[in-house]
Amino acid sequence: MGSQTPFEQRLKAGIMINEHMYELGAAPNKIRETFAYGLERKAIVGPENVYDLSIGNPSVPSPAIIDETIARMAQESKGTMHAYTPSPGLEDVRQTIAENLNRRFNQSYSAADLYLTSGASSSIAITFKGLVQPGEEVITNVPYFTEYKTWTENVGATLVEVLTRTDDFQMDIPALERAINPKTAAIIINSPNNPVGTVYTDQNIKDLADLLAAKSREYGHTIYLVSDEPYRELAYDGLTPAWVPDLYPATIVCYSWSKSFSLPGERIAYILVPPSMPDHDRVYKAICGGGRSLGYICAGTLFQRVVQACIDAPVNIEPYDVNRKILMEGLDRIGYTYIKPQGAFYMWIQALEPDANAFYERAKKYELLLVPSDGFGVKGWVRAGYCCSKETIEGALVAFEKLYREYR
Ligand code: PLP
Repeated sequence: MGSQTPFEQRLKAGIMINEHMYELGAAPNKIRETFAYGLERKAIVGPENVYDLSIGNPSVPSPAIIDETIARMAQESKGTMHAYTPSPGLEDVRQTIAENLNRRFNQSYSAADLYLTSGASSSIAITFKGLVQPGEEVITNVPYFTEYKTWTENVGATLVEVLTRTDDFQMDIPALERAINPKTAAIIINSPNNPVGTVYTDQNIKDLADLLAAKSREYGHTIYLVSDEPYRELAYDGLTPAWVPDLYPATIVCYSWSKSFSLPGERIAYILVPPSMPDHDRVYKAICGGGRSLGYICAGTLFQRVVQACIDAPVNIEPYDVNRKILMEGLDRIGYTYIKPQGAFYMWIQALEPDANAFYERAKKYELLLVPSDGFGVKGWVRAGYCCSKETIEGALVAFEKLYREYR
């Protein structure tokens, strides 16, 4: 057996799988694991006694017009609306989305700039597939959404992690400058941010844009800016996240309705390649190729039509804002250190011991379910998702207080 190659061993055992994919599939995912644990605990101690702040499942109901539209379409269609669409999505749907963006951001986009996908996840995976080559690098700000690593490595590239500033969690431009090199294909940014809740200032993004423009000139190739923005509409206190293509022409926007319309299970999203993109048509075709090679073509037809019909529905962030304020007041009163969220629906709270996993385990004793920061690329913090009911936040604060007392 010892002299056999792994391939020969697998052949002999009759098991032919991609070992790397096996590892990915078998690896524990703390968010999903905690969510599953929460369901178990709810069955045992009652749902009202478990404070699950682990998963980013929006609790605000989808706009009423969504269900009304689905019902109307089902009536009208009589079973005929479930056909394939063109791979990038229906042209008139893409045109409607383009016009919505034109109204909101004063642009002149068209259907030819959009590729519909099933979630920001697939938008990013497609974008990397289309634009990044094996051996290249993608930069992310840290803390970061864990799956960026998976999607980068899926195209044979390396994810380069650059810490955000420690005082305000904005991008650290000098640190990014040190990380950029001739192998840098792209940088991915996420604002409003998961897990910290920061919204990058216009100036911070402008500084990044200047840096990328200078480095692109120096190396003679475009460095892409991938703007992952499923939380765009979830910004508080009147903040408006910058429209990134206005600041950097080679921006790809990966948007999703998962959070804004509370549709994470329906998997509907888009990639925007703005007309300002250098070599736009080739870049757009490469995105189409990325989608094709990954099998991400023709986003669900029903939900293409639903978002078209509901595109102007207002996004209700009020319940998240209420939870945010209750959580901040409670944590202030108890004595926790946290980063005031400006957007999204997560709070970044300092663990009361250096080992965030140990703190997370202790919190579980009080049925308080958090996510340790290690999975987001840093140590010593936890993420608390406040996209739950107000009652859950109130109960969570009682648990936070008991937990705090253990340490003091
Ligand atoms: N990017 C970020 C920062 C996220 O938080 C999420 C989901 O939580 C995604 C991407 C994936 O979004 P989607 O559900 O639309 O695939």
